[in-house]
Amino acid sequence: MRLTAWGEPPALAEVERPVPRGAEVLVRVEATGLCHSDLHVMGAAAGALPYRLPFTLGHEVAGRIAALGPDTDGVRAGDRVVLYGPWGCGTCDRCDAGRDNYCDRRDTLAWHGAGLGRDGGMAEYVLVPSARHLVPIDDLPADQAAPLSDAGLTSYHAVTGLRHALGKGSTTAVIGVGGLGHLAVQILRATTGSRVLAVDVREDALALADRSGADFGTLVRADTAPVLKARTGGAGVDAVLDFVGTTQTLELAVGVLRPGGELAVVGSGGGRLAVSKPGVLPPGFRLSLPFWGTRPELAEVVALARSGAIHVETEYFPLSAAPEAIARLRQGRVRGRAVLVP
Ligand code: NAD
Ligand code: ZN
Ligand code: ZN
Repeated sequence: MRLTAWGEPPALAEVERPVPRGAEVLVRVEATGLCHSDLHVMGAAAGALPYRLPFTLGHEVAGRIAALGPDTDGVRAGDRVVLYGPWGCGTCDRCDAGRDNYCDRRDTLAWHGAGLGRDGGMAEYVLVPSARHLVPIDDLPADQAAPLSDAGLTSYHAVTGLRHALGKGSTTAVIGVGGLGHLAVQILRATTGSRVLAVDVREDALALADRSGADFGTLVRADTAPVLKARTGGAGVDAVLDFVGTTQTLELAVGVLRPGGELAVVGSGGGRLAVSKPGVLPPGFRLSLPFWGTRPELAEVVALARSGAIHVETEYFPLSAAPEAIARLRQGRVRGRAVLVP
């Protein structure tokens, strides 16, 4: 499923099966998640992203190692793995520490990872530059493992960044309970003492939030902020995870945060928030823009899934039906994560 021209939809195409050289690893894809970011990439204007065309989409990938280059280390053919998706330069301090998501040379690269400027997992095979991008999954089903590499990891990284604020008795609002949001609700429940209030524009997303362990859910309406505040006894919430990121949701977040509260903006909705002091932001307001997650965190998310503490709600599509899956995601008709199986 390849992107060949900016402004045109991706299309299925035949390409040669890659041969691993050097330290490269060839993975036979078992499942690939479809992320809302794929829609942002497909819809990008020419020049908006540093990626060179064409490339194969798919940055949430799980599969089995099919072949190894002569210089690979630490993995064997047949191992089942999930891909750590953000591929940095591989040599800076950040990459060295497993934090490719914050690679110092990010601006000089023509890619942000698998399926983001480099060939990704919406294919039968994906070529991985180094075994360091692979995390073992053993017998975890592929449809469960693939979404962990972004929907799970990004949510986990965002929650980890907020953890200092989320002790027992705290409350977190989660805005947008889709692929990422429904895992964020479960990760909050599994790793923090926080109560969870869920917000979405869809009834079925609120039902998913409820099944994921949220304490309360509400549709976005004119009075959403007071409705949420009332659930905290009037004080406001300790943290907001915004998986939408429009001006509307950012303003909702500011409207429900208590003093000293923290907003993590994960969604790429392009909204704006004005910073001024004095102004409307609560005193002590903190803001973060977490991006994806670290390699050690991916191993922790896989362990959480294997323990049964988190479960991905998936909708299955064969890879040949990728255009239909994309259309459904765009229409807001996917529950949890759409997973493509070649
Ligand atoms: P998704 O489409 O699966 O889920 C989005 C959810 O938000 C849906 O349930 C939708 O109904 C809900 N929603 C839409 N508009 C809303 C509104 N105004 N108020 C409340 N809810 C609303 O998307 P996803 O794959 O979970 O991705 C979520 C966002 O996170 C996207 O913008 C994506 O690009 C971004 N993202 C960021 C990172 C990162 O590292 N920062 C990583 C992955 C995805
Ligand atoms: Zn993504
Ligand atoms: Zn780097």
